[in-house]
Amino acid sequence: MTRFNAFEVDDLNRRFGDDAEAVLDFALGTFGESLAFANSLGLEDACLLELISRRPVKPRIFFLDTGRLNPETYDTLERFRDHYGLPIETYFPDRAAVEAFVNTEGPNAFYRSLELRKACCAIRKVEPLKRALTGAEAWLTGLRREQGATRTGLGAFEVDWAHGGILKVNPLLGWSYDQTRAFIAEHRVPYNPLHDAGYPSLGCAPCTRPVQKGEDLRAGRWWWEQPEHKECGLHAPAAKNPS
Ligand code: SF4
Repeated sequence: MTRFNAFEVDDLNRRFGDDAEAVLDFALGTFGESLAFANSLGLEDACLLELISRRPVKPRIFFLDTGRLNPETYDTLERFRDHYGLPIETYFPDRAAVEAFVNTEGPNAFYRSLELRKACCAIRKVEPLKRALTGAEAWLTGLRREQGATRTGLGAFEVDWAHGGILKVNPLLGWSYDQTRAFIAEHRVPYNPLHDAGYPSLGCAPCTRPVQKGEDLRAGRWWWEQPEHKECGLHAPAAKNPS
């Protein structure tokens, strides 16, 4: 298994900076099908899918179906499959865990406390992600630095200690929201129609609402919480070397 230590990762970040295509090419060239692309069907992942479709080597592509997504998001999955003809694996939450949580706490427990919200995300997102990354040497995300307080300090390459120390690769880290929209328009990339309805950032239907003009791009995600809490655990900043 190919591993990078913290010094090597710093070196990669200095070498590639925010050059999205160079970062992507390095990751594909290094890991090939051992690279797993977490495609959430949002705007950034539409851009990444387009970039990947033009390259001879493809990563394994997966999608986490939480069971609480908007109908438009499932339509987007159909469109991606039709347009690119690439396999996109779907991972569902553990049925017994969802049943136990909903039967104990109710279907919308996430509104009642941060703990319950995180518990729901842990069942519907974090655990399926762990399964999806089994065997992967690195994973690819559409994270952008501009997306808020929890993402400003990220690098294009990170060691992900939450998933066994594999490499986490964020090619679009330096892109702005306007850049992603311009890329989508220029290359006629299929995308989720919710982005045209005031949703710059997409997530589960009950936990995401449109943003108002001038609001932060992720203001509509878990809008009842403070900005420093707006992560679901997939990209937790707590992912530090346990040693
Ligand atoms: S975003 Fe909301 S519905 Fe989706 S997993 Fe997290 S708490 Fe549950």
